[in-house]
Formats: sequence, structure tokens, C-alpha cells
Amino acid sequence: MQDVRIEPQAGGRIHLVQVTCGCGNNVLRNATEQARAFNHQTELGGIDVSLCCDNCGNTFLIRSQRNHFHVIQTESGEKYPPISPGTRVRTTQENPRLRDEWTEMARTKRRWGVEGTVLVHHDSHGLHYDVRHQDGTEGPYDPSELEVVNKG
Ligand SMILES: [Zn+2]
Repeated sequence: MQDVRIEPQAGGRIHLVQVTCGCGNNVLRNATEQARAFNHQTELGGIDVSLCCDNCGNTFLIRSQRNHFHVIQTESGEKYPPISPGTRVRTTQENPRLRDEWTEMARTKRRWGVEGTVLVHHDSHGLHYDVRHQDGTEGPYDPSELEVVNKG
């Protein structure tokens, strides 16, 4: 995307969000209401807003959280988060670029080359997943540190 413009309204909960697609179009369609507009109303703690660019087909998601928003460019029809709870995964190896992002406590919980199940995702501080390992312990992982285990 090219640009995101966020205009808080009086009271601070409601915001008007304008997303400019990478193709330059900023009149995006609300995928739920099917209305095209410059501004899309969002509310902290409210529902997520899915947007489509009818010029090039890009899709965007405004995710509302308790005290902030995320604006994400999604593949058309892609769900968010990319890995659903309950998915079987295998941990690969530590992503060295992210090494300093984890607390010492979090680092001690991480295991490499083991299978587990995704419990939940967090995206308040970068997207990551909590995974329950086969031995019953749990640890946090960046998406780049996991591979999905295909069933069958
Ligand atoms: Zn576009």
C-alpha cells in the first residue's frame, strides 16, 4: 500500500481511516457493506474492516484492537492470522534477526526441530504465535520460525 491516513474523531474511539492502494487508488470498497468510499470508519475494540481495491484487486484489513489498529495488506481471500489455532506446526530454527526481540523468559521456552500445535496468535508487538510442544510446554515463535505440518 502507498499510504494510510488516520483521522481520530472527537472522543478518540472512532477513527476515519483512508488507505491508498499501491496502484494509487484510494476509493476502496468495504467488503462487508459493498460501499466505495475514501474514509472507512473504525472503532477501537470494534469489528475489523475488510477493504478491496476494485482497480487492481488488492485487499486490505483494518484490524481493531483495544487501543490501536493494524492496517494489513492481505492476499485476495486470505485469512488472518495466516496460521489458524489448532494447526500442527514444526519449529525450524531461531530467526537471528529477531533474536533481541524476545525476553530472556520467552527464549528459555523456545524449542527447535519439534512439532506442536498453534494455540493463539498475538499481534500487539509484531505477529507471533504461541505453540504447545509435544512435551506439553509452550513457547512463542515468529511466523518465520514455523512450518506447517501437512496432514496425511
Ligand atoms: Zn489497487
